[in-house]
Amino acid sequence: MPKKVCSFCGRSEKDVNLLITGLNGFICDACAQQANQIVMEAGFGPEGTRRKPAFDVSLSDVPKPTEIKKYLDEYIIGQDEAKKYLSVAVYNHYKRLNQPEDDKGVEIEKSNIIMVGSTGTGKTLLARTIAKLLKVPFTIVDATVFTEAGYVGEDVESILSRLLQVADFDVAAAERGIVFIDEIDKIARKADNPSITRDVSGEGVQQGLLKLLEGTMVNVPPKGGRKHPDQDYIHVDTRNILFICGGAFDGIERKIAQRLNTHVVGFNSVQNVRNLDKGDLMKYILPQDLKSFGLIPEIIGRLPVLTYLNPLGREALRRILVEPKNSIIKQYKKLFEMDGIKLEFTEETYDFIVDKAVEYKLGARGLRSIVESIVMDAMFEVPAKKVDSFTVTLDYAKSQLEKSNLK
Ligand code: ADP
Repeated sequence: MPKKVCSFCGRSEKDVNLLITGLNGFICDACAQQANQIVMEAGFGPEGTRRKPAFDVSLSDVPKPTEIKKYLDEYIIGQDEAKKYLSVAVYNHYKRLNQPEDDKGVEIEKSNIIMVGSTGTGKTLLARTIAKLLKVPFTIVDATVFTEAGYVGEDVESILSRLLQVADFDVAAAERGIVFIDEIDKIARKADNPSITRDVSGEGVQQGLLKLLEGTMVNVPPKGGRKHPDQDYIHVDTRNILFICGGAFDGIERKIAQRLNTHVVGFNSVQNVRNLDKGDLMKYILPQDLKSFGLIPEIIGRLPVLTYLNPLGREALRRILVEPKNSIIKQYKKLFEMDGIKLEFTEETYDFIVDKAVEYKLGARGLRSIVESIVMDAMFEVPAKKVDSFTVTLDYAKSQLEKSNLK
């Protein structure tokens, strides 16, 4: 038997916690642990089984488009068109991921998505909800923080840093994640004709983004922010990352109307266009309208799925208040329920809340702040009282909102 030292690091029995004896040698606890780590990192699990990567989902495990839409229906009111497009795009994305490497016959291209709709109509909510269903790393980034390399701001690559962070730096998982890029309209070219001054937060960023959307190997600074030379980079392949972009594209209806007007000839048809409801124009959106708005054609080409969200009317707001699985009202009821108190609202109070949201032009986002102001005092006082229910009447709601500074 050889001398009692670790055959890997050479430390003797008294220098280690534990020395494990083998047939022809020894291994200390530290080396054993390190060896285990190496085995895990190489992708082997217990008993030498190749660990199934966390992202490896077969198509049969993925919900069908109709099932995805049904799930979205539980959380999001209306926006059927966007839901349908999103469900199909995500499903196709999985088909693409499941295509065998050697199947080079018909290569399926990525179906990145662009959603157009005013602020607060549910774009982020849609993306967030779908990510929850699919259990893939998901992150939301705001396009406004990016600038062209070399200027104050963040590099486009830092989008992937966030994705890596939510994936706990599991690169393989991040490489199949979903990124929601919000406010994509804010990086539109400032004018339709290129200007002489540099457009560092517009077209410059679009060019940078193009690389990511196309699918390449990107050097990602792990901590995000600006790249600098003496930093270690993580290499991320963006080929299989699904990008969903969203933007309000304020004023795009005008571009749509212009296009419809110039293309539809004849007295009658022009009149028809004029008669169209302004809120209804969005459904005629085409990629060329995005171009007139200032997105470069290359970017538009990389976002083949174009869909829109409708502005939310009174009817929709009323439903949003109470219907979704985690609607605002249900959330407040839950909060009170935890104190053993049944919170109730009269029907007319709901109408009042919706009226105020419309009046303050806050959209769905405003519903929460209005309800919050109305039940604030109750949330403060009621838990200490010995009551088992609390009803918000119209008069109470009015007086509470009057007191608040929500105007
Ligand atoms: P956007 O990204 O379009 O600006 P969000 O998705 O962030 O808007 O919406 C803001 C909030 O408004 C959401 O968190 C949600 O509570 C509510 N909301 C907006 N649209 C809907 C909808 N269609 N159905 C249910 N809730 C909605």
